[in-house]
Amino acid sequence: MRKITIIGGGQSGLQLGIGLLQAGHHVRIVQNRTGEDIASGRVLSSQCMFSNAVQHERDLGIDFWSDACPPVEGINFIVPNPDGSGSKAIDWAARLDHNAYSVDQRVKIPRWMAEFSRLGGQMVIADAGIAEIETYARQDDLVIVASGKGEVGRMFTRDAEKSAYDKPMRALALTYVTGMTPRAPHSAVEFNLIPGVGEYFVFPALTTTGPCEIMVFEGIPGGPMDCWAEVKTPEQHLAKSLEILQTFLPWEYERSKNCQLTDANGILSGRFAPTIRHPVATLPSGRKVLGLGDAVCLNDPITGQGSNNAAKAAAIYLRRILENGDKPFDEAWMQGTFDQFWDYAQWVVGWTNMLLLPPPPFILDIMGTACADQRLAHRMANGFNDPRDFFPWFADPTAAANYLAELKAA
Ligand SMILES: Cc1cc2nc3c(=O)[nH]c(=O)nc-3n(C[C@H](O)[C@H](O)[C@H](O)COP(=O)(O)OP(=O)(O)OC[C@H]3O[C@@H](n4cnc5c(N)ncnc54)[C@H](O)[C@@H]3O)c2cc1C
Repeated sequence: MRKITIIGGGQSGLQLGIGLLQAGHHVRIVQNRTGEDIASGRVLSSQCMFSNAVQHERDLGIDFWSDACPPVEGINFIVPNPDGSGSKAIDWAARLDHNAYSVDQRVKIPRWMAEFSRLGGQMVIADAGIAEIETYARQDDLVIVASGKGEVGRMFTRDAEKSAYDKPMRALALTYVTGMTPRAPHSAVEFNLIPGVGEYFVFPALTTTGPCEIMVFEGIPGGPMDCWAEVKTPEQHLAKSLEILQTFLPWEYERSKNCQLTDANGILSGRFAPTIRHPVATLPSGRKVLGLGDAVCLNDPITGQGSNNAAKAAAIYLRRILENGDKPFDEAWMQGTFDQFWDYAQWVVGWTNMLLLPPPPFILDIMGTACADQRLAHRMANGFNDPRDFFPWFADPTAAANYLAELKAA
């Protein structure tokens, strides 16, 4: 039995902690908020998770919500006509092979905290700083830092080679609502790309009060959707959300105009720089700690991959810890563990970072072709589950042209 401390009980920390407990290890999670605080606090994310990521939860028996959560059954990609006519220039939709789900982290995290304690895990409610992490590292075989966007994650230095940006690329906002007209004929992430303005996604989810829809706004900094600074109240936040839809996406406004907020905490706005960090940090004592999830691999939500990455990373770290047996968790093991995750995550990060730039003509060509070619639409929709499938044809003009020619010939 190994003794392991995890700093941060979010998607990755709790999933890993529960997996380790089930395998018979001694696990402590240090979490800076109680389950009650999280359940009654602000929304944290839009957390849409595709099937491969959800499967990791199922493997541990902690997917408690797939029966109650309204499924996301497809992807619908839309670009409005630039002539301002209120029509759509690009519009394709395809079903996912397996449903995706978004369970409000205010629902999921408190339930997982209770499950972790029920399985015999030690839950410490405290805000861990370097001094506390030193103590845990002295006492335990391994310390993993899964603190999300928390300040303590800055102990991991930025990896300038892997980080494409050094500033926020989008002004983000979330609006959790009820009363939206459901999308027909099947539910979907409606992914609206407004050139020069930003993106708007909307999809069904399960929140603290039951089913809802989550609106996600991704405004290009300085543009008309970077507009949340003057919003002071939940009512103003909802009004601003509807104003954006009415201005840029009339079809979305039509289905949303009678929406209500799920609750006064069903709103969020902010921004952050997508950042990849070196996964091993050295404490003042010389001991090493390993980073997990957003703490070391923070993506912009434009592709909805952060929780998916966190779940996939936690599954890899779990397997690596179990495979390590009684051997020390040394720096080489830590780096090797992150590297296995990066073998996968580099493609997610590359794809996500591409979408933060204005789409080059070959991407618009792919998107336009998908309107008429269901095979392409299906492949792109299902790429959200495993973005490795976007490469090389979504990243390189020649590969894109070859792939489109192959489709035409087939
Ligand atoms: C607007 C927005 C929309 C998003 N939409 C999606 C989406 O649709 N799909 C998707 O896959 N991802 C999405 N994400 C990203 C996703 O929410 C995160 O990537 C995911 O939650 C990361 O999991 P994590 O375990 O790394 O960190 P988190 O889930 O953030 O957990 C970190 C935990 O550590 C705690 N903590 C921090 N510091 C300390 C400390 N010093 N001591 C103790 N505890 C500490 C925090 O309170 C928190 O509980 C979105 C994010 C945002 C901001």
